[in-house]
Amino acid sequence: MRYPKLRELKEAIISLISKPYTTKFPKGEFKPFPGYRGKPVVDEDNCVGCETCANVCPPGAITFEDDTNTGIRTITRNYGQCIFCGKCEEHCITGKGVKLSDEIFDLACFDRNEVIEKQERELLICENCGAIITTKDHIRFIHEKLGPKAYSSVLNLNMLNERLQLVRNEDAQLKIKDDLKRKDMFNILCPNCNRKIQCKILK
Ligand code: SF4
Ligand code: SF4
Repeated sequence: MRYPKLRELKEAIISLISKPYTTKFPKGEFKPFPGYRGKPVVDEDNCVGCETCANVCPPGAITFEDDTNTGIRTITRNYGQCIFCGKCEEHCITGKGVKLSDEIFDLACFDRNEVIEKQERELLICENCGAIITTKDHIRFIHEKLGPKAYSSVLNLNMLNERLQLVRNEDAQLKIKDDLKRKDMFNILCPNCNRKIQCKILK
């Protein structure tokens, strides 16, 4: 019984003379350890709005809303729900779209809306059926990644059509009978309409 008491006494003396483990935040600066998982920070230049991070976020802190009228996808990141797990960073398709930072205590606030961030990305919408394909930045990213091989993909050809304006926008708006539709009448076609138009199986 004597030895445990001595050990406790030694611990108490060491604690008295050593620096505290706690910090004086917010009075003093908080220096996180390397690898500390703080607030995820989005890199606007490298986030393509692909939706992957929303699909892997365990508490659903990242959500997407697509508006076909404006052609805009709004990405909402609610750091009030974030558990700082790092899954968004780990699974980001560009590898640079979002990174966890050192910041965490600074997120404390009285109004939860203050920790909600929004981003907007332009959508790629099928000109025939109005289906949302993905974002334009997402397709551009795939295009750059694949190089010349990208032209083997219908979706990448869509982007090229649009850039070269091979089809006038007014033509795509015309009411064409389904059985008269041809692929070259549209700049942007979703894979489903592309297949139906090529095979003439539109009803
Ligand atoms: S996975 Fe990366 S590129 Fe895709 S929306 Fe999330 S942060 Fe942006
Ligand atoms: S760190 Fe985890 S909880 Fe927070 S936004 Fe990323 S995936 Fe979601």
